[in-house]
Amino acid sequence: MLKVNNIDVFYGNIHALKDVSIEVKESEIVTLIGANGAGKSTLLKTLSGLLKPKSGTISYLSQQINGKQAQSIVKSGISHVPEGRRVFSNMTVEENLELGAYLRKDRDSIKKDIANVYELFPILGERRKQQSGTLSGGEQQMLAMGRALMAKPKLLLLDEPSMGLAPLIVKQIFEIIQMVNQQGTTVLLVEQNANMALSIADRAYVIETGKIVLSGTAKELQESEQVKAAYLGAL
Ligand code: ATP
Repeated sequence: MLKVNNIDVFYGNIHALKDVSIEVKESEIVTLIGANGAGKSTLLKTLSGLLKPKSGTISYLSQQINGKQAQSIVKSGISHVPEGRRVFSNMTVEENLELGAYLRKDRDSIKKDIANVYELFPILGERRKQQSGTLSGGEQQMLAMGRALMAKPKLLLLDEPSMGLAPLIVKQIFEIIQMVNQQGTTVLLVEQNANMALSIADRAYVIETGKIVLSGTAKELQESEQVKAAYLGAL
């Protein structure tokens, strides 16, 4: 579904992604794990058209998308939930969800999809009229995911959904990621929480200072001594 081939991305003269290649197949959950500053967010921003690679190619559903505008990438079915869950804080939950569908023309099915988001995240349904800025961190993460789903993505890019959330909420969010995947959405999940990410992923890549240093099935990486030492702590 998605093939990233040998991309290099720079911020001025900072070489943030170095010859990065990854692949995501339809219906998979693939995770990219790595420490702070390794280049995870940079890769997602490049996939969604916010940054342009200096070299290399990105092909999605057999079409080259590097260099395309972010809006046309969303239209082609890639939705990005950025780090720090930026919701529109002075709008209600429901207004945020409606905004997620702004590129869609099928107004009739939008209501149905909002109902589906409330089914996935019942707490959002209870808070539909609440100003989003007053939601808890976990609820805002759910809203950011729900809003991305309103674009009906084929591929969902999630940037550190666990960041700053209590373990119980993280568990809930990860269960929902699995449900969304089972409903037919392919997922590329960027995480520092390697343990949780590997527990739900099919395959994984490890990125260190802009380079992919390891890849394999999630199970292989969970068992790798290198990953255990660097990312799984004493688990
Ligand atoms: P984190 O989880 O902390 O966000 P990350 O793995 O997502 O980490 P990136 O945000 O992709 O890392 O950053 C990769 C590298 O690029 C870092 O060295 C970072 O300092 C640098 N970088 C990121 N954004 C910019 C920017 N706008 N201008 C200059 N350098 C940047």
